[in-house]
Amino acid sequence: MSRYFYLRPDKATWATYRGEFNAVPKWGLPGLKDCPGCGASWSSWGTHYPAVDLSELPERHEFEEARQEPFHEFVRLRELVRPLAPPNSKLPPGADFGPLVGPASGRFAPFSGLESCWIVVRRDTFDSLQAAGVRGLLGCKTELKFRQKTPPELIELQIEPRGLLHRDCLPPDLAPPCTTCGRQGFTLPDDPILDEASLPTDTDLFRVGNFATVIIGTDRFKDAVEQGGWEGIQFRELPVR
Ligand SMILES: [Zn+2]
Repeated sequence: MSRYFYLRPDKATWATYRGEFNAVPKWGLPGLKDCPGCGASWSSWGTHYPAVDLSELPERHEFEEARQEPFHEFVRLRELVRPLAPPNSKLPPGADFGPLVGPASGRFAPFSGLESCWIVVRRDTFDSLQAAGVRGLLGCKTELKFRQKTPPELIELQIEPRGLLHRDCLPPDLAPPCTTCGRQGFTLPDDPILDEASLPTDTDLFRVGNFATVIIGTDRFKDAVEQGGWEGIQFRELPVR
């Protein structure tokens, strides 16, 4: 049976490498304004599908400006994206698509971006992860603009929402998700537990489906990172129930 680790940025590595980028995904769904079901105005963070390419969509410009929209307009835009997204994808308000765009500079660690809930890897790291047999890796090009002469090739991994936090680690009085917009408002528990029955068995890297900012790697992923001697990630094992 796999073991599961919550991946956090290793802050000590930042000081060593000093690679920086100020990037945002190229396209995104708007946030939701005044849900007709629950009344909330909200936007998710962490749901990013870098492999979903909206460049051929005639309406792509409607996905370029961060904003909030009423439910009917949010749904219209979401349904334009759905055929381009992986089957059965969660597409909450604020979900992002396409490559990271923006300026970047400096020397990059093997892994970066985790503080923004992305995983950006150097090309050599990506190739080694694949060679190590890490499953479910989908590498996507970035559109980061470097001023230096020999910029590194940086690849973002598409990490899809799979699996759930176990009910036992959530507040006992937590209301079920809104049937209109899907929102279920809670803060991340101090001691998260993963729901074993919900966990994917075909990938070594995923986001938690009901808390997309939490990125999980299996022991196979952790072993590959440690055997490569790569820095940039701290691993915290989470219990499974
Ligand atoms: Zn709602």
